[in-house]
Order: sequence, then structure tokens, then C-alpha cells
Amino acid sequence: MTIDTLTSGIDPSFGPAVARTPRGLEAEVIVVCEHASNWIPPGLSDLGLDVHAKHSHIAWDPGALSVARLLADTLAAPLVEGCISRLVYDLNRPPESPTAIPETSEVFAVPGNRDLSDAARAERVAAVYEPFRTALAEEIASRAGKLRLLVTVHSFTPIYNGVPRDVELGLLHGRDDRFAIEMLARQPEGLAWDTRLNEPYSAVDGVAHTLDLHGCDNGLLNVMLEIRNDLIATADQQKVWADALAPWIKTTLEEGFA
Ligand SMILES: [Zn+2]
Repeated sequence: MTIDTLTSGIDPSFGPAVARTPRGLEAEVIVVCEHASNWIPPGLSDLGLDVHAKHSHIAWDPGALSVARLLADTLAAPLVEGCISRLVYDLNRPPESPTAIPETSEVFAVPGNRDLSDAARAERVAAVYEPFRTALAEEIASRAGKLRLLVTVHSFTPIYNGVPRDVELGLLHGRDDRFAIEMLARQPEGLAWDTRLNEPYSAVDGVAHTLDLHGCDNGLLNVMLEIRNDLIATADQQKVWADALAPWIKTTLEEGFA
């Protein structure tokens, strides 16, 4: 794994914003995990959150990084992961999005994001978003011609605003719906997951930023996997999911887009 260093002039407590597991240049798939970490730079005083909120799904996607790592291992794919909580900056949002630095998330207020100055906002973009965007763009550019598919791995909470969610796996797309639709149609027999297209979120919720910017704009097929986080809470569960997703993705790519 390589850790990208920071742009100078930024509060050093931000630390690295992105980590890469590069792997070979022959890979056809790249795996991305934007919401991998709930780490909040010490200079931000936990954004005023209590311990419960800081460890909850609002700060990161629990389980997603482990599944992403296993998936990348199995597919021999490079992995690009975010190292800072999405409450500091949500890497799956462009800087102009009002939810890039959210003042509230589900039922939680995020006091440290309230009334941010333009300078503080710009620092978050420079310290978190830009290094991640650059690292992912470099990984993709270095594989031009070989790389075919970008997969992002996320997890979602089983209960949102008090309402239980039945969906277990969401296949989400942005401007290019081809891979998500093909993958949905190819769910392996015997895999009993409740899989749905564009649930529990979809592009209208602003979640297609990475897919569109790094996938569509580079001519890559792309899909966002949203896994219900109670199903990937343990190492055993994470392995079950990765072991099922890897061949499913590979078959979809090889047979659906021969
Ligand atoms: Zn996420």
C-alpha cells in the first residue's frame, strides 16, 4: 500500500487523505472505497460529535473497506481508499455540493461543520478531496487501454430515520447504467440476496459523483455496490460477500461485455 503525501500549507493534522494498493498494470478492474474510514483529524475536535455518532454509519461505511480489500485481492485489482471520515469531506461529492461537508447527517447534527468559513471549506477540499481525486485519476490514467471497469464499495445502515430497510444489496449507476443492469440480471443462482437497482439510494441523491467523474468520463464501465452493513459486520460475513461478489463481477464483465 502506498500513502499519498499532502499538499503543503495544509494543517498537518489532516494526514494522508488517500491510500492506494496499486497492483499490476494488467488489471481490468479498479476498486474504490470512498467512505472507508471514520478518522477525524485531531485539529477538528471530533467535529463536536459524541463517541456514538463518531463510530456510527454517519461517519463512514462500516464493513465496506474489508469487503473492498478482499474483492480487490480476488480480482487482482488496484484499490483506492479514503482515509478520512466522510463528515470531514464526503469524497463521493464534488466541492460545490452542499452535502460535501454536511451540517447534518440523518438524525445527527455535525457542529464542527456549521458556519464554516470559505477558507476552512477550501482547506477541506485541498486536504481531502483533491489528493483523493488526483490519486484515483492517476491510477486510472496509468492503466489506459487495459482497465475496463470501476467498482465502488459502500455500505448502508439497516435502519434509516427509524425505518427498516429490506434491500440487502443495491447496484447503483450514474450516467452509464449498463454494468449495473447487466450485473443485476446475472445474480448467481442460489445467491438469495435481495438485490435491487438504485436502492436505497440513486443518482438523484448525488451519489454518482465518483462513477461519473472517474468512470464515465474515462470510458470505463462502472457500478456502485451498496451493501447493508449488518450483513458485513464480521470478518466471516465480509469474506462471504467478497467471495460471492468477485466471480459475479468477473462473469458480468467477461460474458456481458465480451
Ligand atoms: Zn458510502
